[in-house]
Amino acid sequence: MISVEEALTRILAAITPLSTAQVALPTALGMVLAQDIVAQEEIPPFANSAMDGFALHSKDSLQSPGSPPRLRVTGGVAAGYVADHEVVEGTALRIMTGAPVPPGADSVIQVELTRSGGPESDWVEILQEVAPGNNIRPAGEDMRRGQTVLAQGSEIGAWEIGILATLGWSHVPVVRRARVAILGTGDEVIDIDQPLSPGKIRNSNSYLLEGVVRQAGGEPYRLGVARDTVESLREKFSEAAGYDLILTSGGVSVGDFDLVKAIMAEQGKIDFWRINMRPGKPLAFGRIAGVPLLGLPGNPVSSAVTFELFGRPIIRKLQGHTRLQRPQVEVVVEDGVSEKAMRRHYVRAHVAWRDGHFVARTTGNQGSHIMTSLLNANALIIVPEGGVEIPRGGSTRAIMLDWPEI
Ligand code: AMP
Ligand code: MG
Repeated sequence: MISVEEALTRILAAITPLSTAQVALPTALGMVLAQDIVAQEEIPPFANSAMDGFALHSKDSLQSPGSPPRLRVTGGVAAGYVADHEVVEGTALRIMTGAPVPPGADSVIQVELTRSGGPESDWVEILQEVAPGNNIRPAGEDMRRGQTVLAQGSEIGAWEIGILATLGWSHVPVVRRARVAILGTGDEVIDIDQPLSPGKIRNSNSYLLEGVVRQAGGEPYRLGVARDTVESLREKFSEAAGYDLILTSGGVSVGDFDLVKAIMAEQGKIDFWRINMRPGKPLAFGRIAGVPLLGLPGNPVSSAVTFELFGRPIIRKLQGHTRLQRPQVEVVVEDGVSEKAMRRHYVRAHVAWRDGHFVARTTGNQGSHIMTSLLNANALIIVPEGGVEIPRGGSTRAIMLDWPEI
């Protein structure tokens, strides 16, 4: 048996990022930049006003005893327009937030610090002294022409999309999404729109995997269910060629009908591992017709948990991410884990911050066929190998499934 860490290291060593593509900016969310983004312009592109107010010569705002300075208002400039004349001494121009600062003016005073005869007034009184540059956002203050604003390899979140939009990138170079083939196996497995008949169960794994593949940013393709015959498996595997990753579930343990191993070995290079973990001991990894293949266990929870530990990091690495692992935190296990397992046990739990620490509560029966204890679980408590018990209130680490990778 090998450890989870060893298996993951071996798997990731065999994965290289996919090719790059240009995609429309809005669809780049969650993808990884394939090149540095260098500003070709100053941002802001022109000096502009941070306030609604008046553009003026700052020295015209000097206060002397008696009445405040009064300036002649010669016009106005709104956002999106350019003033048609200069601001000369003794005058001011009405200006709106985002409008270019007119030539001549070195300062903007906000409207609240002035008094005038109304929106059309041809005079304004300056009630406070303002310094040069007041309320002016200089060109290039945010980004300079030639500056590398985003680095190759960074993940594109909504804020990055805002920056790319500012710089005019309607299409962006990214590492493309992984096309992931999902294959169920087993004579007992029927599709979800079929009525149950004796001995049959519905294909939950393929649908669950479709969801988690999509959550990982991949493009899932369900290829149906292979029967437990050599012919059916061969046929399904030939359909799966041409994808970036093949995920199978079931057929990799030691049962008589677990033919997946045999066909994998026949068609490619495959390692079968018994991993020192629970749920999900059997796992297969290798390549068929050049396509990486991850063979997950058939039990639904094992399949879900091994996808989180191995499948998701594979998809992320394919898609150019360098942060591949979910964060772990130290938790206090409120209800404890009494079940002792020799293998490392990943226990479904809900973790929340309470009274200065992370508190975990297990979500129920931990059988690998009990899907309902996936509900409400946002973490996997790690119970170390070797028959360890976590007493009530004891501490251990947990993998946070709803936190972004680090
Ligand atoms: P196997 O690894 O093929 O022996 O499957 C282990 C367990 O998982 C068996 O109880 C199977 O019936 C179940 N199983 C296999 N594939 C699926 C599937 N696609 N959906 C739900 N359960 C499955
Ligand atoms: Mg089976």
